[in-house]
Amino acid sequence: MRLLVALGGNAIKQAHEKGSSEEQFRNCKITTELLAQVVARMKKDDRLIITHGNGPQAGNLMVQQEAGKAQVPAQTMDIVGAMTQGQIGYMLQQTLLDYLRTHGVSTPVLAIINQVLVKEDDPEFFGEVASKPVGNFMTEEEARQLKAEHPEYIVKKVKPTGERAWRRTVASPDPIANCEDEAIRRMVDAGIIVIASGGGGIPVVRNEDGALRGVEAVIDKDLAGERLAEVVKADTLLILTDVELVRLNYGKPGEEKLGELSLADAKKYLAEGHFLAGSMGPKVKACVRFLEWGGKRAIITSLDKAVEALDGKTGTRISK
Ligand code: ADP
Ligand code: MG
Repeated sequence: MRLLVALGGNAIKQAHEKGSSEEQFRNCKITTELLAQVVARMKKDDRLIITHGNGPQAGNLMVQQEAGKAQVPAQTMDIVGAMTQGQIGYMLQQTLLDYLRTHGVSTPVLAIINQVLVKEDDPEFFGEVASKPVGNFMTEEEARQLKAEHPEYIVKKVKPTGERAWRRTVASPDPIANCEDEAIRRMVDAGIIVIASGGGGIPVVRNEDGALRGVEAVIDKDLAGERLAEVVKADTLLILTDVELVRLNYGKPGEEKLGELSLADAKKYLAEGHFLAGSMGPKVKACVRFLEWGGKRAIITSLDKAVEALDGKTGTRISK
């Protein structure tokens, strides 16, 4: 088995938490114990590759950039993305290595910084299409101030009600390829548990001269995880989030939990709009892409059900 696990936001920070180092390490330890159960079942030739989100961490770092800019220059969003790969990668790497060591497992673990190529002409970069809200919620007045200071920013009302309903919104372009694909493949082949494409990877475009350049955007981590799965030739894609099962008619009459699901039905339900954009939508889309590329099975479930889902006992399990 070659398994790619995509960790959702709750693996590192719970929704009600502020994001202190202590809170994040506590969550990482719980996540690690669950991942270690997966590692414990792996045979010699099996491989595990991990990816993760970075929304809350990138949001917090952006607040720090803004608040501290009178003293220290604010860093651009691609650099903030790289910072979160280091930050979260460090916490996962330390907790996972520590857990494995105390259980007599010597598998090496390494978190890497990596860039993901997007297209400069992706529709998300044009007009007001940009769909990914980032940073903190603002009042209408704060939103106006931000826009006056940064006319190039897109600031949108992202909640229908409430005073703080405004947020900066950036492009969420489709990931095309992993720039470090060969390095990642070699590490995985060598038996290293690689943590990569954190936060969807650092979004970059290629200049005419071939050089890479970071852009202000956020790639969806599940879609980037799927590209990573192709790079390492994974056969199983396991997306761990905060719900055990995906639902049809989500939040509507006739809501229904989905267990075993065919690729054809997943595509049909996706087209019918059962899965919300920005949350479940890209997860199901990632599963569809993975199976169409040649992956064997894709599973969406909650973090605590990972092992049961791999055994086919729960989770939304999609296959051809
Ligand atoms: P993660 O951080 O794991 O990526 P998200 O919040 O992006 O988490 O995605 C998980 C969320 O997707 C669920 O908590 C739920 O609110 C939402 N969601 C949207 N559509 C559906 C659906 N059809 N079935 C289940 N959950 C859905
Ligand atoms: Mg998400």
